[in-house]
Amino acid sequence: MNDTASAAPSAPSGRAQRIAERTRGENWKKPPRRIETSECITCDTCLRSCPEEFGAIFDIGLDVVIIPELCSGCPACVLECPVDCIYLDEDWTPTGESVWNHIELTAGGAR
Ligand code: SF4
Ligand code: SF4
Repeated sequence: MNDTASAAPSAPSGRAQRIAERTRGENWKKPPRRIETSECITCDTCLRSCPEEFGAIFDIGLDVVIIPELCSGCPACVLECPVDCIYLDEDWTPTGESVWNHIELTAGGAR
């Protein structure tokens, strides 16, 4: 399928690929971030500040959550959170099936 595309990089197409493969950017050096739910005031400021290329923050149920596989650790959201409740998540665990299904529904077709 790449035989006629020598000039076209077959590099991962970023976020869409991460969502499709449910894997984290493998060259990201920083750990992802996580939101401490008990401290979060669900203002959605972080959601709006996460760069489109990552789009790692979602409203899921009553919570605002960061999907570690989509979070580069950049950390734009940390700088914007009014209550400083976004922390490093060195021990992140893979996102569950039901959350991925939600993401595919809400982010399908997004860049
Ligand atoms: S650290 Fe960056 S990529 Fe991760 S959720 Fe925050 S703004 Fe998005
Ligand atoms: S900016 Fe902070 S307080 Fe607001 S939704 Fe995000 S994590 Fe919660």
